[in-house]
Amino acid sequence: MPTSYRATHAALDRGELTTQTVVQTFLDRIQETTHLNIYVDVYGQEALQTAMEQDQRRAAGEPLGKLAGMVLSIKDVICYRNHGVSAGSRILEDFESLFSATAVERLLAEDAILIGRTNCDEFAMGSANEHSYYGPTRNAADPRRVPGGSSGGAAVSVQADTCHVALGSDTGGSVRQPAGFCGVIGLKPTYGRISRHGLLAYGSSFDQIGLLGHDARDLATVLEIIAGPDEYDSTAAAEPVGPYELSAAAESRRIAYWPAALEHPSLDPAIRARYERQLADWRAAGHTVAAADFDLLEYIVPAYYVLVTAEATSNLSRYDGLRYGYRDPKATDLEETYRLSRTEGFGTEVKRRIMLGNFVLSSGYYDAYFTRAQRVRRLLRDRMQALLAEYDFLFLPVAPTVAWLIGEAGDDPVREYLSDIFTVSANLAGLPAISIPLDAHPENGMPIGYQLMGRAWSEGALLGFAAKRE
Ligand code: GLN
Repeated sequence: MPTSYRATHAALDRGELTTQTVVQTFLDRIQETTHLNIYVDVYGQEALQTAMEQDQRRAAGEPLGKLAGMVLSIKDVICYRNHGVSAGSRILEDFESLFSATAVERLLAEDAILIGRTNCDEFAMGSANEHSYYGPTRNAADPRRVPGGSSGGAAVSVQADTCHVALGSDTGGSVRQPAGFCGVIGLKPTYGRISRHGLLAYGSSFDQIGLLGHDARDLATVLEIIAGPDEYDSTAAAEPVGPYELSAAAESRRIAYWPAALEHPSLDPAIRARYERQLADWRAAGHTVAAADFDLLEYIVPAYYVLVTAEATSNLSRYDGLRYGYRDPKATDLEETYRLSRTEGFGTEVKRRIMLGNFVLSSGYYDAYFTRAQRVRRLLRDRMQALLAEYDFLFLPVAPTVAWLIGEAGDDPVREYLSDIFTVSANLAGLPAISIPLDAHPENGMPIGYQLMGRAWSEGALLGFAAKRE
């Protein structure tokens, strides 16, 4: 069975395939890959039922939605009415959504089929999927290794062919980095492109739903359906959506890169060499490839972590043992209910971020950390705007290394945070960025991807560039 929706769709139209076969094939794959710990919940019966209904409607000649027969997974931070959503956390264990995210509503309205919700780092905080209450997801290319994070389950759900497209979320790289680690395409749209209504909030001024898949055209098809304004999210922009016609014509592009990024000491030399070869190939193919100065690289990870933890502290205050999810049964008064429920409901990394966020917001430190980080953000935005007025794309690594071994990083949060160095700038600046598979690492065979960042609302151009390699 084809792995892209485009091909599946054509086969469905020609009557060579039924929707039930499509769904059953994916469910079989899910059964074969349980050791990878991709899904927290599989909607097997429902998906088969919907498939059967679609086949009947098709046979009766009734019209079907634009996504009929498309099978998607959703990350465990995206609400789907009457289905669990837990953000990989004990504090939301057994919690069910009362409504669906706008993105989910729009998918269902076009007859997409949801197959399950995928594992992720707790509240999307992490870069390796090792901070999930449900245990780590494993990389299908080498199950001893992490899939990246926080949308690790989403990336492997595509990598292991258990669905056509996955919805993830990207606050500081959580779609692009796991996509890079797993050899699939990952798109983080412009801030405001997709409604955040029904996406559990982590850092609200950074969060964006993102898409993962094998085929850039499939992502364009989904983006066209789910993007656009929404009365439930005032940050969802009115900017027109698509149509994303990914032309096959070879357009020459102006591509900038930061030598400071390519020469960064954390970047694996084999990956750097592969990137240099790629830039030379693009030059030879007629693209303009030019170095651009950038002297803020060392500031962006600290700025991101100051700002995102400040926002997270506020966003996570609602999980108090009273309104949602887990409540400690031993507590006898209000204070104890808060303290015990949050102590036992949240994992170590989430607690670390809540404390960090409170610290940077506390009086006496506010100006030293929060205000300064806001200035870095502003400076970065201005620089990016100027750079992308001159160039179509900024080329960046996705991460300094390939996927590491599970447990290898130990409990060294700073090391994990620093590995986000190449992805957080897109979120700080609110710009779209895509991670595109490039090659296998010469020593360990793990996937290497590269990243392109574009101007606001240039998702079509980014996906078009990704489509060229197909
Ligand atoms: N690794 C980053 C963090 O932990 C990004 C996570 C994300 O994009 N959700 O904040």
